[in-house]
Amino acid sequence: MPATKPRPNLRIGYGFDSHEFHPGIPLKIGGVTLPYDQGLGGHSDGDVLLHAITDALLGAIAAPDIGALFPPSNPKWKGADSVVFLGEALKRGRNAGYAPANVDASLVLAAPKIGPHTAAIRARIADLLGIPADCVGLKAKTPEGLNLQNTAIAHVVVLLEAHKSARKKKR
Ligand code: MG
Repeated sequence: MPATKPRPNLRIGYGFDSHEFHPGIPLKIGGVTLPYDQGLGGHSDGDVLLHAITDALLGAIAAPDIGALFPPSNPKWKGADSVVFLGEALKRGRNAGYAPANVDASLVLAAPKIGPHTAAIRARIADLLGIPADCVGLKAKTPEGLNLQNTAIAHVVVLLEAHKSARKKKR
């Protein structure tokens, strides 16, 4: 019988999401409302970046994904603040003995320009995850060659590290 490996001190998670732009609704990206005449549709507030971060956190601990925990078919989540989804993922991570160390994200969208809002979005994500802003990477790219002018995409990787307190408790 192979010996059971000790629980890793580090775990990586990856998340992806995409949402379509619709006129006349607020644009929320990374928990920040950006000035724009279109927003991202979806069953919640359409925050493509918070959804990808949530899935990355859940994936790192091999938990069910955001769609399984907060099904679009449930009217409860219609228009929901995506901070709630992120909070649940963080709680599950904490219960598993892990906390975020750093996160890196790439947004892909034709407009609006994210550059002027990067600092605000990084600060908001840092606050939500309880990590310094210099542990939040955020890049924005245009969808060159992808023919996705009306779509926002987010790719996210997150690193979780074992809580010192959780490690102590378990050993
Ligand atoms: Mg989504």
